[in-house]
Amino acid sequence: MEKTETYLEYLKSPEAQAVFRLSQAVTDSLREYLRTCGFVEFLPPVVSSVTDPGLRGAERLPVSLYETRAYVMSSMVFHKQVLATAFSRIYSFSPNVRLEPARNADSGRHLVEFCQLDLEEAGASLDDSMRLAEDMIVATVSSVLDRCRPFLDALDRDLSVPKVPFQRITYDDALREAAKYDLEIRYGDELPQTLEAQISREAGGFLWVTDYPKSCRSFYYRQSEDGGSVRSMDLLYPEGFGEAISGGEREYRPDVITKRILEAGLDPAEFREFLAMADTGLRPTSGFGIGIERLVRYIAGESEIARVRPFPKTPGRITM
Ligand code: AMP
Ligand code: MG
Repeated sequence: MEKTETYLEYLKSPEAQAVFRLSQAVTDSLREYLRTCGFVEFLPPVVSSVTDPGLRGAERLPVSLYETRAYVMSSMVFHKQVLATAFSRIYSFSPNVRLEPARNADSGRHLVEFCQLDLEEAGASLDDSMRLAEDMIVATVSSVLDRCRPFLDALDRDLSVPKVPFQRITYDDALREAAKYDLEIRYGDELPQTLEAQISREAGGFLWVTDYPKSCRSFYYRQSEDGGSVRSMDLLYPEGFGEAISGGEREYRPDVITKRILEAGLDPAEFREFLAMADTGLRPTSGFGIGIERLVRYIAGESEIARVRPFPKTPGRITM
């Protein structure tokens, strides 16, 4: 959007007309794909007494509901484990609010308010979730190419169906790559966005990064046998678009969840309702979240995520 252009003018522009029709095709395709796989869609919670505290530097938005501390949902991870225990394969288009740090204001891929397709599957492994994500992305891109050529052409977007399986590297491999770019990252640090962009560009396609160290991921991920890493994965988009997905296998044993909460320096009392549900027997699950705006941004080939979200709020800039 040009500085002189009003938001309504942007919405009426050929660019926005194409972007938002692509966005609709994306959500339609995702729903169609998941329905054929037997996933049950749930309406998402908007506020909750329990939501994800592990947000890579972002903060949750606290709200007071009838004098009780609650949060606007930052992710559905705990609710998903409960729903998947009861319904096996579940998903929601979940609205999330995260107070991202100001340093992410101009990243082109951070919003304060965004939507995650949050899905979870009982009895699934990390590998199952990765294959499901690959098939889902292939189905979505194929469907968009079938239905939306004129909109892609209007945006001058050259998009093709990605080849599966996507390449896989581990976090340790990514650290070795970092050395090539003279980036100093210690084992246990987050992979910086610049490195994610570099390695995804170099891969020439979608790229999985697996086996993150415990310190990089929240307490709810299942620990690997080695004890140092967790059963986790991130998917990076091609062309330097950065992170698409985070997910993995979840810890479901209440005693281990409590231990991990304490290790993370958090207070188990904050999670007591979830822990009480875990006490009644959660099934092992695996799943992931994929940001819808980031997926549309990639499909539309837009550099700014704000162009693909209606009434966008970027870190530090809150507007209508
Ligand atoms: P996370 O579990 O924190 O990795 O979030 C899951 C997914 O949601 C990410 O892989 C992104 O696709 C998306 N996402 C996370 N934070 C944001 C944000 N601030 N703005 C837009 N999308 C986001
Ligand atoms: Mg992530």
